[in-house]
Amino acid sequence: MTAVQSFDVAILGAGLAGRLSAWLLVRAGARVVLVERGGPDGSGSAAHVAAAMLAPLAESAIAERRIVDLGIASVDLWRTWLHELPEPVFFQEDGTLVVWHARDRSELSLFTGRMRAVAPPELVQQRLRTLDGKGLAEVEPELAGRFAQGLLLQGEGQLDNRGAMRALLSCAIAEGLQCVWEAGEVDAGSLPAMGINASVVLDCRGLGARSAWNGPEDGTGRALPGLRGLRGEVVRVHAPDVKLHRPVRLLHPRYPIYIAPKPNDLYVIGATELESEDESPMSVRSALELLSAAHSLHPAFGEARVLELNVQRRPTRPDHLPAIRVDQSARIVRVNGLYRHGWLIAPAVTEAACHVVRALLDDDPAAHAVPASLRWPGMIQAVRETAPGLPGVLAESGTGMLH
Ligand SMILES: Cc1cc2nc3c(=O)[nH]c(=O)nc-3n(C[C@H](O)[C@H](O)[C@H](O)COP(=O)(O)OP(=O)(O)OC[C@H]3O[C@@H](n4cnc5c(N)ncnc54)[C@H](O)[C@@H]3O)c2cc1C
Repeated sequence: MTAVQSFDVAILGAGLAGRLSAWLLVRAGARVVLVERGGPDGSGSAAHVAAAMLAPLAESAIAERRIVDLGIASVDLWRTWLHELPEPVFFQEDGTLVVWHARDRSELSLFTGRMRAVAPPELVQQRLRTLDGKGLAEVEPELAGRFAQGLLLQGEGQLDNRGAMRALLSCAIAEGLQCVWEAGEVDAGSLPAMGINASVVLDCRGLGARSAWNGPEDGTGRALPGLRGLRGEVVRVHAPDVKLHRPVRLLHPRYPIYIAPKPNDLYVIGATELESEDESPMSVRSALELLSAAHSLHPAFGEARVLELNVQRRPTRPDHLPAIRVDQSARIVRVNGLYRHGWLIAPAVTEAACHVVRALLDDDPAAHAVPASLRWPGMIQAVRETAPGLPGVLAESGTGMLH
């Protein structure tokens, strides 16, 4: 881009939050440019490697109530939005099956105890079904005789992440989105030199936005990191001899894995979660653990072909919750902290972020206090950044005005 071009919104990062926001904003009539360090295939994003399971009840065993609520709202949005895309995207709501080997039975009470403590009781009552061996065989015939019992978390879903990313992008481009690919490591301050003049910047760079996210003070006045990467490894295999119909989670004290069946006999087996910023390829240990656990679930995985061994880092805030930071005077909105739940919660989070962007475009003096913030109190935070791209100072959180 040589001559200066003006846009309503410049979105940084074409991963999950970036593509979803681009699609929402162009549909609302905004002139939008999407600026990405990599290419259109999204292969540098966490979104690209994810299993894209949409499992609010299963996640309640390890997450907070806020994630469950955002997840339930978001699955409703996915159901509607995916129908509005011109290309079909695989989307399934046939539940999650949870199984365990007899020796790991103690994991069950931990899993259900945590789920009951966190999830709304009516959700547990509606969705949780205990299966005996016969019930399990009806739900997943290929696991018949392999497990004595299981849990079916009814209504939980999954989608094809790569298909969704492609469809969102091509639909947004058809509606007028402009894109800058291979832009290198950009931040809000890089845009003028690229010939981009934007009324509002929406930062969706995931972990690439780390320098813009400060955390709480450490007691000596020093800001702790506000964003860190949690390494996750997944294997993609082609397994035409395995016929699973829905994501299966294996409760295990050391290797709690999931297997998500995708179209065309593809299976995503994941995922490790390591407190590490390491981006290097998958370790032998992780590959052995993931593949052995899959083989222990269904021996036909022994003949599967390994297509990809993927590593990415999940963008994670100290409280493991998502946040939207709004600097009203700099006109920057930053979305981050989608952690391991991005596909589950991104619709509700990006919808709220796009409300804020539209309020800024409308010069609403309380842009960060739009109704979306009332729905998800505390998620939208007002900040004042010292300079574009530098860590913000939390001015106020939730509702209220910036002065
Ligand atoms: C192994 C694994 C499994 C997962 N499984 C699931 C799951 O089953 N269900 C679920 O809900 N979630 C899952 N997730 C989580 C989900 O993928 C993430 O939460 C989500 O992708 C984060 O979205 P994001 O848009 O913030 O970041 P990303 O998707 O990472 O996108 C960020 C984009 O910004 C670009 N970028 C970064 N820095 C710059 C820069 N300086 N300039 C320009 N562009 C930049 C990157 O190239 C990238 O395209 C999983 C994640 C991992 C790693």
